[in-house]
Parts: sequence; structure tokens; C-alpha cells
Amino acid sequence: MKNFWKSIYLRIPLTLYNIVLAVILVTAFSCVTVYATEEENPIDTSALAETYTALYAPDYAPYSYIDEDGEAQGMVIAMMEYIADYADIEFVYISNESEYDIEDIDMNLSMLERDAVSEISIESSSYFEFPLTLLGADEWDGATGSVVGCLDYITLSRDDIFKAINQNGLRTYYNYEELADAYNNGEVDYIVVSSIVSTLLDIDDIAGTYNVSLSLDLESVIMFNNDMSGAEIDTFNEIIDNIDITDIYHLLVEAAMAASMEGDVTFFELMVLHRVEIVATVIILLLGWLLTIYYLRQKALLDFINVDKLTGVSTERKFMEDTENLLKKNMHSYKYQIISLDVDNFKYINESFGMVVGTEVIERISECTKNQFGDIMIFFARVVADKFLILTRQWDDATETNIRNSIVVLEENLKEVLGTEYRFHVSVGIYLIDDSSLPVRYMADCANIARNQGKSIYEHTFIRFSKELETQLRVDNSVVGSMEYALENREFKMVYQPKISLKTGKIAGAEALVRWVKVDGTQIFPDQFIPILERNGFIISLDYYVLDSVCSFIKDKPDLHRVSVNFSGFTMIKGDFANTVISIVENYNIDPSRLEIEVTESAFVESYDLMIGDINRLREYGFVIAMDDFGTGVSSLGRLNDMFIDVLKIDKQFISDTLTGVRGRSIVSAVIDMAKSLHIETVAEGVETEEQMLLLKELGCDIVQGYFYARPLTPEQFLSYIETFDINKK
Ligand code: C2E
Ligand code: CA
Ligand code: CA
Repeated sequence: MKNFWKSIYLRIPLTLYNIVLAVILVTAFSCVTVYATEEENPIDTSALAETYTALYAPDYAPYSYIDEDGEAQGMVIAMMEYIADYADIEFVYISNESEYDIEDIDMNLSMLERDAVSEISIESSSYFEFPLTLLGADEWDGATGSVVGCLDYITLSRDDIFKAINQNGLRTYYNYEELADAYNNGEVDYIVVSSIVSTLLDIDDIAGTYNVSLSLDLESVIMFNNDMSGAEIDTFNEIIDNIDITDIYHLLVEAAMAASMEGDVTFFELMVLHRVEIVATVIILLLGWLLTIYYLRQKALLDFINVDKLTGVSTERKFMEDTENLLKKNMHSYKYQIISLDVDNFKYINESFGMVVGTEVIERISECTKNQFGDIMIFFARVVADKFLILTRQWDDATETNIRNSIVVLEENLKEVLGTEYRFHVSVGIYLIDDSSLPVRYMADCANIARNQGKSIYEHTFIRFSKELETQLRVDNSVVGSMEYALENREFKMVYQPKISLKTGKIAGAEALVRWVKVDGTQIFPDQFIPILERNGFIISLDYYVLDSVCSFIKDKPDLHRVSVNFSGFTMIKGDFANTVISIVENYNIDPSRLEIEVTESAFVESYDLMIGDINRLREYGFVIAMDDFGTGVSSLGRLNDMFIDVLKIDKQFISDTLTGVRGRSIVSAVIDMAKSLHIETVAEGVETEEQMLLLKELGCDIVQGYFYARPLTPEQFLSYIETFDINKK
């Protein structure tokens, strides 16, 4: 009786410990659950075979053991069965005490022999981390001289335990039974065990119990046979990495409990034997229940900040967190990339179709993107409005082509909502994660920067982030910064490049081209700043500014020939283009036929539906409309017929490259003939040599423009050029 009380008394610290541990464990698991990565996509398990053989230790409860019916059981086995269920495969468990042929073994679950079998040496991801605890009768003071016992494989995998416990005497044992015996009979003063097992160990006859958390985790892994293919190992790891810990927590605890209750005992004996454990279990379950309620509340709260209401995909916050976690545990050193996706001009959709349509568009983009990216998408979040972030594995050119094609599918899909008229473009920015230690926020910013660079009103764009881009961005920012100032201070100056009629040999007009002349006299050419202004919308102000300057230049020179002005496609589809142009020209009281509006072929073709109304309006009003850079875009000669233009400018590239060959010559000739038959005037730009000029004359081209006659000239130079032209006639 005395012994019984002593035992109860001595058990108290252990019971308290159990309770504390239960609280810690359940809390820990609840937290893990809350933050566990959700499985957004089922894992492709096609690389796996139907059956695998797995070696296990039959006397290693609660990890693995053989039950009365000769079946493999235990926590490790529960884990494996979870994987088998997930992947719809089967594991055949082979005891490492039976006579087996190592050739037939696919994987080893017994940590004990992890080094013994060298054919089986590839480690999986860790599927479970067991916190380790030091148990002993006396308070641990780190004193030398006391002996610590632990399982031998723990020392194999974690030699830092030696350092942690600063120990002279360390004895290792093959299984928990031997370890408990060693402790019970005083062979060792302390034992190192995993926290879960410590509640189940049969350590009875001890003088006292003291425990200390070692803050060490013991990682459980599967050892794969070296013959196993990379794809199979990847798949297993992926399943392990994606396991929701709540799914298996109960399995593992159940397995551990079952292991401790193995054996032929009556219920009463069991009660007596395991009274403490039973009390602890009831408390664990009770706490578990309370914590589940707490967890569900917590989950509702977290859903609120983690799930996008509109589309059901993650929020940006969740995306950042998930990506960070994934990169932290990326043990297979996969390469990932962050993709930023955005529909250009979404504001326009909202404004012209209304919010309801806008919302529907967002839902469709989200749905379509999910379907089209399919397996390669790991995380997917909506940031704001039409902006999405996607994490994928690094892809190859074939994948990129697939995704490009899938955007065409999306385009078709959106036509149902927006009508066939509307042209929408997607910008995609890609950031390849080279250094996973960088903040995810920075990576996403880089993907966004790349995406913004690609914004084009003409086509879908896929831009990869690069160091050059970063530099470019800095230049962009400085341009934008000084833009307003430059406009106010009239730093944008016009130059005029004469156009010569091949029919009359006289000046037929000029093209107005812009230059940015800074205060210090440095000249910046349009190619360097116009693309930037098109990206940030400033181009609209510049285009109207240029038109205004040209009008003011020609207004009191009535016999100055026709001058053409370039307009960006961006300006033409934004705002009230035709009315703005007309009001500027009316302001100067200029005959509109003295002004030619140049629109590039690509803008013309791509945004035809959006701007044709304005073009017709301007044309009816009396302006001359020119299609610029013909030959660089995709329009066919046939389409010229449907387009309402007065002038066709054959691109300079076309002149220099193709005019030299017979084939190129016949193409230019066909273009000129076709234009003639449609009463469209032809202008060849970039004429640099006499030979080119003579040939174009022979082919019937109406007007030429290029360095052969003159470079773009300042207004003063241009005026004197007109005066002297006939004299110096070429
Ligand atoms: P663009 O409209 O095709 O203008 C013709 C470009 O070719 C001009 O370059 C001109 O200087 C150049 N050029 C003229 N003759 C020759 C030649 O014989 N050989 C060669 N190799 N080049 C020649 P610039 O002035 O640098 O303008 C570049 C582009 O910038 C223009 O191409 C136009 O797209 C755009 N741009 C210029 N001014 C404006 C403007 O005021 N508004 C808008 N929206 N765009 C402008
Ligand atoms: Ca032009
Ligand atoms: Ca041109």
C-alpha cells in the first residue's frame, strides 16, 4: 500500500507534465493547422507504381510494431497508410527481422538501420517532427557524471544532442522497452525520448521524475532505395510536404495510444496500469475539443483575411505567407517563379460596362487562370481588382507557349461578357526566384515591375524580370519625375523632316517629330522616352502638346505645306480623341486638310474597333489620315481595302532591307499598286540613297522622306530649307 501511494505521489509531476504536454501539443497542432499550406491542387501521382515494399522494425512501438494478428502497426505505418490512401497505392510491409532480400526493398521506415543499408540512402522530406524531452529523477543541472540513455538512432541522426546535454556518459539502446528498463533499474539517470512517447513509457519504479525540454526536434523520414526514380521521390515528397498535419495528428496519436495498450490485459488491469495515461487522454480529448471550438472561431477569422471574397482564391497576405513557408522548407531545391498577371485597362471595363460586368470579368479571369495553369500552379491569389499573383515551379518554353495559348482561350471566354468588339490584353510579369532568402514581398514587386514594363495596348505581353529591367525602371522613374516640369518649361521641341513629291520634284510637306531638349542642351530622342510615357499615360499630354506646337508653327504660314503629326494608339483610344484634336485645331483656325494624323499600323489593326469612330469623324472633318510604319505589323494588303485611310507610309525598315532584293522589290511594288488602286497616297520613309529614291520613283511611289533629302530640321532650318530647296534640287 505504501508503495502504491508512493507511486501515485511520484506520478504527480509526470501527470502534471502530461497535462502540460497535452496543452502544448494540442495548441501546437491547432496552430500548425491554421498555418498549414492548403492543398490548392491535387498532386500528380502518375509517376508512382501500384505497390511498394517497405522495411519496418517490428519491436519499435509506438513507431512501428507487429500486432497480435501479425500486422504492421504504429505511427510510422499510420503515416504510410495515409500516403497510400492519398495516392491510391499499396505498401507491403516487411519486417526487418524476417529474411528478406535487400534488392526487393523499395524503402526503409526503420530509423534504426538507416545507415546499415547503404543501398537505401535517399532521405525523404521530414513527415513529422518529434519534440525531444529529457526525463530524469533529479533536477537536471547539466552535471557531468550522470548518465543519459537514448535510442541509438537518435544519436545517429542528431549528434548535436551530445552538445545539448553536455554529457560524458551516453548509452544507447535499441528500443524503448530496453530504454525504459535501463532507466527503471538505474543504469541511466536520465533518458532522452520524444515528447509523445514520454507519456506512454512504462517507467514505474523511479524515485522521482523531472523533465526538461531539449528544444530539439527529431525528424522522421523515409529512406528510399537508390534505384527509385527522381519523379517517384518527388511525388512522395510532394505528398509529405502537402500533408495537412491535422489530418494525420489523430492517426498518429491513436497509433501511439494503441501501441501502449497492446498486449493481453483486462480492462481493469488496463485501468490500473494506465490510469495516468487514461486521465491524461481524457484531458487531452477535452482540451482538444475546447481547442477545436477555439480553432474553428480562429479559422473563420483567418478565412476573412486569407480568402478573397469575390473569387475564393487566396488573398495577397496568404500568398506571401504560403510562399515564404514553402521556400523555407524547399528541401529539393526546386526553382519557383512568381507571376504577376493583370488585365490592361481594367478601369475602362469597369467604367464602360459597369461594376457588375467588371466583377464577372474578374471571376472569369480567376476561373480560367486556375484551369489553364493547372498543375503547375502552386499558389494563386488576387491582390486587388484585376491583379493576380501566381506561384509556379520554373517552367520551360513549352509551358510558356501553353500559357500564352490559354490566354487566348480566356480572351474568347471574355468575349461572351464584353462582346466581340472589345480588345483586352493581359500583361504577365515573371520573376524567377534565385535567392529564396529575399523577402517574398520584394520578389512580388519584381514580378510587378516586369509586368508593368510589358504593358502594351497592342498585344499580350510576357516579360521576365532582369537586372537590366531594374535599371530601366530607375530611368523610367526619373523620366516620369521630370516630365511635368519638362512640359511646363517647354523642353519638348519640334523638328520637321521634309517630304518630297517624286511627281513634282517639290516639297510636299513635313513630318513633325519631337525632341526633348534639357536645360543643359542634351537632346533625348523619342525612342528613349515615348515607350515610357506610353506606359504611364503621360503620352496623351505630350501628343496634344505636339499638335498645339505644330498648329502654332503653321498657323500664320498659309503656304506651308501639309504637316503630319504622330499620335500614339494610347492617346487615340483614351478619352475624347476626335473632339480634342478638333478643338485644338479650331483654336488656331487652321484648315484641317493641312494636318495629317499618323497612326502606326499596329495601333490601327489592334485597336481598330476602338478608334475607327474617331478616325472617321476626323476624316469627315477634313484631316488627312496616314497609316505609319506599314510593313511592321500584321495587317495584310487585303485589309487596306476596309480601312479608311488617305496615306500609307511604307516603313523604313522595309525600304532598306527589301528594296535591295528582287523579292522585296516586288512586294513594295505590289503595295504601291494596291494603294494606287484604292486611291491611297504612298510615302516611303527612311530613304537614304539616290538608288532607293530612283527605284521608288520607278515603282510609282508618290512621296519620299529620309536622310537622302534631309534630316529632321529645327523650325528655322526647315523654313530656310523650303526657301533654298528648288535651287539645290537633287
Ligand atoms: P516614325 O514616325 O517612324 O518617325 C520616323 C523616324 O525615322 C524619325 O525618328 C526620323 O528621324 C527617322 N528617320 C527619318 N529619315 C530617316 C532615314 O533616312 N534613315 C533612318 N534610319 N531614319 C530616318 P525619330 O524622330 O527618332 O522618331 C522615332 C519615333 O518616335 C517615330 O517614328 C515616332 O513613332 C515616334 N515619335 C516621334 N515624334 C513623336 C510625337 O510627337 N508623338 C508621338 N506619339 N510619337 C512620336
Ligand atoms: Ca511617323
Ligand atoms: Ca514611320
